[in-house]
Amino acid sequence: MICDRNRTCTGNKCFKSIIERDGTFENYPKDEPIEVVGFIACGGCPGERLESAPADMKKYGAEAIYLASCYLAGYPICPYIEEHKKYIEAVVGLPVRVGTHPMPANYVKFHGEIGDWERDRAERWLVGISGNKADADKYDSTNPNFLKK
Ligand code: SF4
Repeated sequence: MICDRNRTCTGNKCFKSIIERDGTFENYPKDEPIEVVGFIACGGCPGERLESAPADMKKYGAEAIYLASCYLAGYPICPYIEEHKKYIEAVVGLPVRVGTHPMPANYVKFHGEIGDWERDRAERWLVGISGNKADADKYDSTNPNFLKK
């Protein structure tokens, strides 16, 4: 699921990270396919599609729900991450991972400068999608080499 503020996102970074086993997908074996059964925006604050979308995804085979990296990359970070995670795990009955593709370098820089990740105690959600500079550069669309890789 993606943040509705990015409702027109192509999802390319999320899908790239699945294919290349980057970010939160790094521990999935490359020879085991990952099937995406749904891709949808949350519907807008506080999560209009939360009751129906994860349940539909479960019906069509989802074994886990990923709240995309844009939940953390927007400003401010989504204030409902904890609630979305709790609802999906408790009511729908699927595990939830927060974050998908590695956090791009431009977002790492921006959020570091304004300090909102620290203020909103976002570090716990960033485990697994930040801290690797090469990956941060690879997913940074402002990187001059972005279209060459
Ligand atoms: S901030 Fe959170 S609740 Fe609001 S649109 Fe984005 S993901 Fe949905």
